[in-house]
Amino acid sequence: MPPKAPKTTKDRPIRVRMAPSPTGPLHVGTARTALFNWLFARNQGGAFILRIEDTDKVRSEKKYEDEILAGLAWLGLDWDEGPLPMVGSRGTHGPYRQSERTELYKKYLQELLDKHEAYYCYCTKEELDAQRDAMSSQGLPPKYSGHCRNITAPPAGRKPQVIRFKVPETAVEFKDLIRGKVVFDAALLGDQVIAKDLDTPLYNFAVVVDDELMEISHVIRGEDHLANTPKQILVQRALGFHEPVYAHIPLILNADRSKMSKRFTDTALMQYREKGYLPDALINFLALLGWHPKDDREVLGKNQLIKEFDLARVQASPAVFNEEKLNWLNREHMKTLSDKEIAKMVLPLLAAENLHADEAFVEKWVSVERSRANNLRELVDLGKFFFVLPHYEPSLLVWKESTPEEAKKVLGELTEELKKIDQKNFTKEALAGILADLTSERKRGVVLWPLRVALSGLRASPDPLDIMDVLGKEESLRRVTAAADTL
Ligand code: GLU
Repeated sequence: MPPKAPKTTKDRPIRVRMAPSPTGPLHVGTARTALFNWLFARNQGGAFILRIEDTDKVRSEKKYEDEILAGLAWLGLDWDEGPLPMVGSRGTHGPYRQSERTELYKKYLQELLDKHEAYYCYCTKEELDAQRDAMSSQGLPPKYSGHCRNITAPPAGRKPQVIRFKVPETAVEFKDLIRGKVVFDAALLGDQVIAKDLDTPLYNFAVVVDDELMEISHVIRGEDHLANTPKQILVQRALGFHEPVYAHIPLILNADRSKMSKRFTDTALMQYREKGYLPDALINFLALLGWHPKDDREVLGKNQLIKEFDLARVQASPAVFNEEKLNWLNREHMKTLSDKEIAKMVLPLLAAENLHADEAFVEKWVSVERSRANNLRELVDLGKFFFVLPHYEPSLLVWKESTPEEAKKVLGELTEELKKIDQKNFTKEALAGILADLTSERKRGVVLWPLRVALSGLRASPDPLDIMDVLGKEESLRRVTAAADTL
């Protein structure tokens, strides 16, 4: 009898899920998977579900779950439902946790056992190794031998080791929205372990039960899960479940096309928050890792992404993580914010460095320093000297075509001129006038170089006029006088 056509989710409401395992820091790739699911759900008016896959009791940790929740909150990827009876807006409930759903998995494990679609396996690790060796010496592919498949009663004195699913020797075919038709030969798989015991299901089983019970219509996940899909489809069929639509999104590679790894790239999402990237810029960047809009626009806000997102334009070939592009996008997104908005965002970073100033100062500081920074962290690093003058060598005050004596003289003249302007007339125009006078008979570098160093302690900085404008009369004068005194 030909196999029945699988039940599909094609005509069901759109429901997608993000199913991270809390076993390590939240990976950028996981954040991208979450984003694609979220964009798809929001574009389609469907539901986005968060499910923490913590069946691996040894490796799952609460701190990683917290990080997932904090990461999604930072990116603004809100989820729609959850088991906790917290009424209210999105993202205030849930998430689902597999560790709280053991009874459900147990029921379906028992069903498979009762239907003889699954069985207890008594083989120990040593026996499995021996079976595998024997098979490979006969040139057979390494897979479970099927030794316990037809055991009807527990062998005397032996303990069940795991529960295995009877994998039929058949071709499994499915249509992936991104990769097209995918065919796997399940004969190569061997009977798969789906649980350690009735209370301890493994990933490939729990995921199938959850996707069915949560009425997931589309499974959008990383390409690294492609090989799991036929295993999951076979379990779905054995339980008479629906087969969701699959979309496996491409791998992310480093710029040199090597596999993305911590050695070359910051792979933890939260590192980008610490570095002061804007969440909307990161969202924009992640969205373009494997997807692009119809036209060649690249700078897109969240609402535009929601409007434009379409799984049909997700590419099958790997996406390349390009940090320069991230920086560019972040600068573009920073441009959409006012000085005040950036000031507000950068305040916690300043506080963390023990740098304090009033709001008006911070805002003005942002206005002169912002264009030089790729992110808020850089803004703080580049512009720290406004808050505290770094230590610098007095020799730095001397321009290459000048002498210490001349630098001292120039700084002395500057001190006298600055003193003459009162604070309320301490404007860029007035300061420009002073500089014009002082440079009329000298090369500009003779004056501007020591002034810049005196104000910033640095070789490169914003325009000295801008610095003085931010620092104000008193502090500018203090720095210039102090510099003159060191020579
Ligand atoms: N828990 C799996 C992971 O973190 C994802 C499973 C899935 O999306 O089906 O990689």
